[in-house]
Amino acid sequence: MRIDILTLFPEMCNAVISSSIIGRAVAANKVEIFCTNIRDFANNKHNKVDDTPYGGGMGMVMAAEPIDNAFNSLYDANTEEKPHLIYLSPKGKTFTQQKAVELSKKERIVLLCGHYEGVDERVIEKIVDEEISIGDYVLTGGELPALVVADAVCRMLPGVLADDVCFTEESHFSGLLEYPQYTKPAVWQDREVPEVLLSGHHANIEKWRRKMSLKTTFNKRPELLNSATLNADELKYIDELREEKHDI
Ligand code: SAM
Repeated sequence: MRIDILTLFPEMCNAVISSSIIGRAVAANKVEIFCTNIRDFANNKHNKVDDTPYGGGMGMVMAAEPIDNAFNSLYDANTEEKPHLIYLSPKGKTFTQQKAVELSKKERIVLLCGHYEGVDERVIEKIVDEEISIGDYVLTGGELPALVVADAVCRMLPGVLADDVCFTEESHFSGLLEYPQYTKPAVWQDREVPEVLLSGHHANIEKWRRKMSLKTTFNKRPELLNSATLNADELKYIDELREEKHDI
């Protein structure tokens, strides 16, 4: 897969894409990630990429032309399909694990980072395929959201994590939150690791983990249970948790 990031601050993105698991995935050619500086496509004397908003008001708006030029530089419109372009925006649909999985199946995505008051609406109308928000709050720029999306997508790609189980059992993949995790020592400040995890009995460990996953979801994000796929025993267990809660 190839991911392009269109940004005014490539140094912010480069720092992240060269580190840790994503850095290793790039080095091992599991994914290609390129940052393109929109300023390089300004086509004016002072490399100006923004201007004051029509109608007045605070701040600056990123101009359409440099963004359009930067995007067009990424592919040959005569011979290649237009890459899927995502504008990171607080007005977009909230990013989810399901969206990360969906995007990881594409051969190529382009992430457009806004700054200041955002970007001229006309370039969004012309080239953007979808707008994604990483939550209902406003950041100063789209770089952190683009890196959030790139990270979540990359870890879904084959060979980036040691095994698919690394993400299929994780929070949100199946609609539930993950069970609690523990590492050595077995006793830390008088707190013991649950005995079943030391038993070596894989079936019992699986059973315990599933139960704890349900309990964690019930306690922390009960609304997720409404859309999770649960069997009869699991639904019964959730009812028991509800009754326990009422009795307290
Ligand atoms: N004026 C815009 C508004 O009220 O919707 C906010 C602009 S924000 C200060 C600058 C840029 O940061 C946006 O163009 C977008 O790229 C990015 N951004 C800010 N918050 C975001 C969020 N929650 N999700 C995704 N991108 C965000």
